[in-house]
Amino acid sequence: ELDNNTQKPHIVCVPFPAQGHVNPFMQLSKLLHYNGFHITFVNTEFNHRRWVKSLGPDYVKGLPDFQFETIPDGLPYSDIDATQDIPVLCDATKKQCYEPFKELIKKLNSSNEVPPVSYIIADGTMGFAGKVAKEFGIADLQLWTASASGFVGYLQYDELVRRGILPFKDENFSSDGTLDTSLDWISGMNDIRLRDLPSFIRVTNLDDIMFNFLGSEAQNCLKSSSIIINTFQELDSEVLKVLMSKNPNIYPIGPLHLLGRHFPNKSFKTNGSSFWENDPKCIQWLDQWEPSSVIYVNYGSTTVMTKDHLNEFAWGLANSNLPFLWIMRTDLVRNEENIGLAQEFLDEVKDRGYITSWCIQEQVLAHPSIGVFLTHCGWNSTIEGISEGVPMIGWPFFAEQQTNCRYISKTWGIGDAINEDVKREEVTKLVKDMIKGERGKEIRQKCLEWKKKAIEATDVGGSSYNNFCRLINEALHYDA
Ligand code: UDP
Repeated sequence: ELDNNTQKPHIVCVPFPAQGHVNPFMQLSKLLHYNGFHITFVNTEFNHRRWVKSLGPDYVKGLPDFQFETIPDGLPYSDIDATQDIPVLCDATKKQCYEPFKELIKKLNSSNEVPPVSYIIADGTMGFAGKVAKEFGIADLQLWTASASGFVGYLQYDELVRRGILPFKDENFSSDGTLDTSLDWISGMNDIRLRDLPSFIRVTNLDDIMFNFLGSEAQNCLKSSSIIINTFQELDSEVLKVLMSKNPNIYPIGPLHLLGRHFPNKSFKTNGSSFWENDPKCIQWLDQWEPSSVIYVNYGSTTVMTKDHLNEFAWGLANSNLPFLWIMRTDLVRNEENIGLAQEFLDEVKDRGYITSWCIQEQVLAHPSIGVFLTHCGWNSTIEGISEGVPMIGWPFFAEQQTNCRYISKTWGIGDAINEDVKREEVTKLVKDMIKGERGKEIRQKCLEWKKKAIEATDVGGSSYNNFCRLINEALHYDA
């Protein structure tokens, strides 16, 4: 057994410690494990504790050739239900993870239990890992877990400063019309306004943490020897062309969860990698509804909103008279202990609204009763929605979600966008048009076309399937 293991090339995977990064990393890790690699998956201590609770202690024990290791994220010890502050987390990982990660690689390389480390696959936003790889002479690759268009968007940050567009003169960038300025100079992107670029451009001061973090991590990622992206050639051909002109070794191998279906890794009992506990009853609840009739509402793992906006969504849904499944993390409302939905609202929707705190989204989106996905347009949610052919209504929160939302509504024609300052009438109108109206029919048609292309891309001989083989053979030098 051990002898066998020592012959396997050993890959260390280092995701950014948030749900939307850990999920695609786990999908990629399982694919590589299935194809004969020894995997070390690097978690933060905080997320490790969350997994023990949500997936059970057996999960984190790993397998003989798929192990979990932890490093601290640099933040003070906190309760696992605490809300994570993303800017604080970015700052902490950048400053604090380098040393512990270096120690980990040292430990792995001097261990008799595991093969020496052959490759490090680092998140596009975990630049320190590439630095460590270089110091040890280990080949490093990157997995960019966000969208390809978001990547191109972040690469414009310097140019926006050079052109004098940034910083903004005052805090009113959302109301004075400036954000509506069209940008016609970004190659690979059409029909893009300033407001569609990754949201960290909304600064009046260039010292902003997120503006600098993403601007520099994206430039750094672009310099990597190989970059894996969770998209497929047909979906993102224009932006991929731009990225490939700057770095020829780009591997679009998505949608990763569809590709995973061709390499069914039976070694794992749990299929997800959620930090929250799944409510399995929501799937049963969906069974009672007609095909394409239910609104699925989920803003992902990090979005927070004001109580007013939450209320507008709630009454917008109630007034539509349509059934809905609404996933609300308990910390969804900014600065509030409880979500505190009005009793009047709960009474009104009790027969057609199911509200719970976490689901296995892949399963929900695949359920035939889902008619529309009200989403914050996180990249994983977007590509999962595309894979299931579900029309979307986008209400982006931050980062490149704004860009994804624009692509959903304009480039791919698979959804609509809701105003930042959401009002109930708009919610009602959009969901009704999508479930009952002509708009929905037209969009559903487009969605089915993209779904078909996503499936074809990950099928044997498809673009993503071939890119994955190329990744293994060329970048990871492995004859499986
Ligand atoms: N997710 C899930 N259940 C939920 C909410 C989210 O399984 O109730 C998963 C979802 O399928 C996706 C990830 O969590 O893979 C969220 O990533 P995304 O990029 O969409 O958004 P983020 O959470 O990073 O803002």
